[in-house]
Amino acid sequence: NTPLLAIDHLDVSFQFNDGKYKALENITFSVADNEVVGIVGESGCGKSLTAQAILGILPENACIDQGSITFKGANLVELEERKWEDVRGKSISMIFQEPMTALNPLLTIGKQISEVLKKHTNLSKAEIRERTIAMMREVGLPRAEALYKSYPHQLSGGMRQRVVIAMALIVQPDLIIADEPTTALDVTIQAQILELFKQIKETRKASMMFISHDWGVIRSICDRVLVMYAGRIVEEGSLSEILQNPKHPYTKGLIEAIPDHRKRGKALFTIPGKVPPLKERKGGCPFTDRCSRRMNICAESFPDSVTFDSNKEQTVNCHLYSKEGVLTS
Ligand code: SF4
Ligand code: MG
Repeated sequence: NTPLLAIDHLDVSFQFNDGKYKALENITFSVADNEVVGIVGESGCGKSLTAQAILGILPENACIDQGSITFKGANLVELEERKWEDVRGKSISMIFQEPMTALNPLLTIGKQISEVLKKHTNLSKAEIRERTIAMMREVGLPRAEALYKSYPHQLSGGMRQRVVIAMALIVQPDLIIADEPTTALDVTIQAQILELFKQIKETRKASMMFISHDWGVIRSICDRVLVMYAGRIVEEGSLSEILQNPKHPYTKGLIEAIPDHRKRGKALFTIPGKVPPLKERKGGCPFTDRCSRRMNICAESFPDSVTFDSNKEQTVNCHLYSKEGVLTS
């Protein structure tokens, strides 16, 4: 049973005037059919870069050093640019934080949502319009007929994000990658857009990668979670396991920092320190400087991946655990 998407030992680095710096290291994970995988971590940990690598839209000074990205059986890393673009247009849809970046201010909403149908199908004008309007209704855009002729600036931020979601869905992608899709929106609108994603998950059985720094978002939609820190995946497991039984000190810190409504007014926990900037990363566990559990070995080598006897699905990279997944200190 091959997964829809499998990333294997992926390394990505940036080239600067003063040298080459590794931004993603040994990234390995998969997304199965009908599965929603969340990527969490603070900003600067490589979440968006991972998405960009999958889509073949890395910044100009970044490149894939090694590893593979296998999507529906084909290694995207080995594809020509043109074919990768094809995959991007038809099989993988991306939804970004800021809807305006995905929209053309000069084209009507209807034109933008229907564009891919014109490009990739032989449907008649009437059919295209019909499908576009049905899609607009599905994502909760009111008065679709009238809205068809509107321009992006005439819409609110939440409505624009619905338009972007309609554009992402209309191609019937196998995989949707959403990068902080609710972060730029007001709190009430965030909740509505999140509801829409949950509805998409249920009705379309879509596979998704959901990137967020917000556990409220991750918790409400993801089946499985990857925790990234400084360009590495440091823990992976089912949502419930990660929330109830986090193993990595970084994951524990993130979960302790989740705002708790019951403790309103109490000072929130924050992990001291910050993610090391790209050029200041050293060998060893990248969390060493911030970790209250650090040992001598932590600064020396990056810990191997450990699986747990009790739960083979959960893995962690931390020297606190022995090969057999036992807490050693
Ligand atoms: Fe902390 Fe060491 Fe584990 Fe890194 S490897 S998280 S520094 S205990
Ligand atoms: Mg980001």
